[in-house]
Amino acid sequence: MRIGILALQGAFIEHKHALDKLGIESFEIRQRRDIAKPFDGLIIPGGESTVIGRLLHKLDLFEPLKAKIEGGMPVFGTCAGLILLAKNIEGEASHLGVMDITVRRNAYGRQYDSFSVNADVPKVSEKPVPLVFIRAPWIERAEKGVDVLLELDGHIVAARQNNMLVTAFHPELTDNTSFLEYFINM
Ligand code: GLN
Repeated sequence: MRIGILALQGAFIEHKHALDKLGIESFEIRQRRDIAKPFDGLIIPGGESTVIGRLLHKLDLFEPLKAKIEGGMPVFGTCAGLILLAKNIEGEASHLGVMDITVRRNAYGRQYDSFSVNADVPKVSEKPVPLVFIRAPWIERAEKGVDVLLELDGHIVAARQNNMLVTAFHPELTDNTSFLEYFINM
């Protein structure tokens, strides 16, 4: 198995370290030629969704990656990665626009813009999972066909739709690999 990690901006190296820990081969996607060879899954990391979105176009990665996802390639978007996959972003144009969710960027506001909690996520892990939120979005609405994996205080923060897995938080910034293992099983 070979996982491509979008490495244009943001927290991509942490995903690589987590995959290394599970003994899974990965490589960084920085330009068009990086995706010439076959791979089995894609990770879109946290960072700044507007910046990553702009670079996807500039580097001619937008169309080929969107086509791969629409063709069924498993993709895991964390935080900004979630925003990039959403069909709707409140008050803004969407980016890849492949997942039937409406997202609110920076939803936790200033006071709670970064925090961590432990939560039970029965569909993903038997034990509580540590969650790290950094200027995180939440999912305001999920359409039919989206499986909600976790709600926190009434807001959806992890979900799956077919080949797409998203979290508003950053599993790669903790030692806990439950979400990554869930993705690898996809
Ligand atoms: N606030 C960022 C955005 O809107 C996401 C933050 C993150 O990825 N940690 O793109």
